[in-house]
This record gives sequence, C-alpha cells and structure tokens, in this order.
Amino acid sequence: MTDSILIFAPSWIGDSVMSLGAMRAVRKTHSNARIVALTRPWVQELYAGCDVFDDTILYDPHGADRGISGFLRAARRVRLEDFDLSILFPNAFRAAFLIHTAGIPERWGYATEKRGVFLTKRVPPAPRPFGRHQAHFYLDLIGGLGLDLVEPDLSLQATEPMRRAGRTLLEREGYKGGPLVGVHPGATNSRAKLWQTSRYAEVALKLAETLDGQVVILGGITEGVLAEEVRAGLPKERVLMLQGKTSLGELMGVLSELAVFLTNDSGPMHLAAALAVPTVAVFGPTDFRETGPYSSVARVVREPVDCSPCLYRDCPIDHRCMERVTPERVYDEALALVSS
Ligand code: SF4
Repeated sequence: MTDSILIFAPSWIGDSVMSLGAMRAVRKTHSNARIVALTRPWVQELYAGCDVFDDTILYDPHGADRGISGFLRAARRVRLEDFDLSILFPNAFRAAFLIHTAGIPERWGYATEKRGVFLTKRVPPAPRPFGRHQAHFYLDLIGGLGLDLVEPDLSLQATEPMRRAGRTLLEREGYKGGPLVGVHPGATNSRAKLWQTSRYAEVALKLAETLDGQVVILGGITEGVLAEEVRAGLPKERVLMLQGKTSLGELMGVLSELAVFLTNDSGPMHLAAALAVPTVAVFGPTDFRETGPYSSVARVVREPVDCSPCLYRDCPIDHRCMERVTPERVYDEALALVSS
C-alpha cells in the first residue's frame, strides 16, 4: 500500500497548470494517501488553489538550495518525510538524482536525459513535437505508469484570502468597482511571443470604454518597460498598474476579478484559463495546439503563417506572425467572449 507520495512538480507556472489533470489522476487513484508537492517557491501558492495536495515542500536550486550543499540539504529535507513513492513531472536529470539521493524507494517518471538508472519505473516519452495539448504529455506519463486516467481537469480556484488580497491591491490603485480589463503584455524569455504594447493599449482602452470599466496592467518584476508602454497609451483615470506588485496568490485573486483578460502565451494565460477567466491569447511562434489556454472561455487569435510554430525566442525575419494580428481581431474576440 502507498501511504505517502511525493509529486515532483514542474518548475514553471504554465507547466504546473498543464500538469494539474495528471496530478488529479494520481489523487483519484490514491484517495487516502498523503500527497505532497515538491515545488519551486514561485509556484507554491498555485497548489493552495487545487484539491490535490496535503502539503508542499519547497525546492529552490537557484536560491536556497544552490550548489552541492544545497542539493544535499534538499535531499535530506525530502528524506525526513519518509515517502513511499515519488512521481517526477519535470524531465530533468537533476530531479531523478535528487529523489534517488533522498532514498525514496519507488521513483517513477519519463526515461529522459539518461536518468533511467535512478528510476524504478520508467515511461518512454512521446517524440516531440507532441502534436496534442501538453496536458496529455503529463497524462500519458500517468497512463504509462499504469494508473487510471480521468478527463483532464486543469481548473483552479482562487481562495478567499487570495481574492481579498487581490481586491485590496486593486482598490489601493484606484479601482472603482466596475468591469476590469486585464492586460499582460509580457512573456518569459521570448521577444518573439510579444504582441505590440501599443496594440494592447488600443484594445484594452476600447474595451474599457465599451464596458465602462478600467484596465489593470499585470506583469512580472522584469516586465516594467512593457507595462509602462501599455500605460502610456491609456488615460490616467482608466488605468491601474499592478505590474511587479503581485505575488502568485494575489495575481490569482486579481485575475478572478476580471471581465476579460488579454495576454501573450504566458504563465498568467494558463492561470487565467484555469480560473475560468474569459481570456484572449495572442499566439505567434508557439504552437497553440500544444500550449494554448485549456478552457472553454478562452480564445486564441493568431495568423497562420508558414513559419509558425518556430519556437524561436527572437524572430529572424519580420515577425509577421504577430504583426499581422490586428487590434480589431483581438477586440472582436474579447467583446464576443464578454457578451457571451
Ligand atoms: S519565424 Fe515566423 S513564427 Fe517565428 S517568430 Fe518569426 S514570424 Fe513568428
């Protein structure tokens, strides 16, 4: 019998959301087990918004757990919890080495990066490009391990403290209580994924005027330039600036307040989809079939150019995949979503 399971969770917000369906399948087949997520600090709050985990353990290989001594400290932390089984969602060699070092007797995962020697149950990964939504990449791992599959459920709920914290932040910025249009103009590690900030401002303003609401600009701490460019295109009384001011939990709270959310292919896009926020995502160099928002109230706007998906971080030509997406198309999709 398996009493205690460690799920080694993905490192990034988007992957963490896309793996929720597979994590729920583990919970379903081990309803009485203690299930704990080993998670990066910046993802931890996400797991408070789902029904899978009893607890979380932090692992930060680029911070507190840096270097060999940090790695051994993390392995010791895991060992003390006495898990029977670990399931690895990341494909990295280091993840398998860590749980092996931590002495967990059963270690299951994809046999990637020559790490099979550390695993007691190995699943060969499907060849990339995968061609289906990445939620299925994680579900195939669970199926390959012989566990029962369920229809993927990638939903999240903002907890009441998250919603309260989100509302407090909005009010501090001058929120008047009407419909909110959210804009996230950034994308991690990719300039090619960015739609023009002036176009985001144009669409957001038009929507805010139509709905008689305000625009809230969101983004990570490093996305200040993009956020300021959007703000520059909006009248002062319509705009609330929350870029760089939200924790993950606060972001989930703010997203839950939105009438509609405009975004690039990004972690917040996946969060909004999981929270069932009406979302319009502009896609260019990435494959919307694999990493699009997994939600019935999300729409992808894209231009079907021959070179997409290229997965480049910088466009080597004229960025036509994004340049050809007009503000009118994004506005029309957003308005249709809000109206429905
Ligand atoms: S190569 Fe094509 S798909 Fe890739 S970023 Fe450039 S225009 Fe977009």
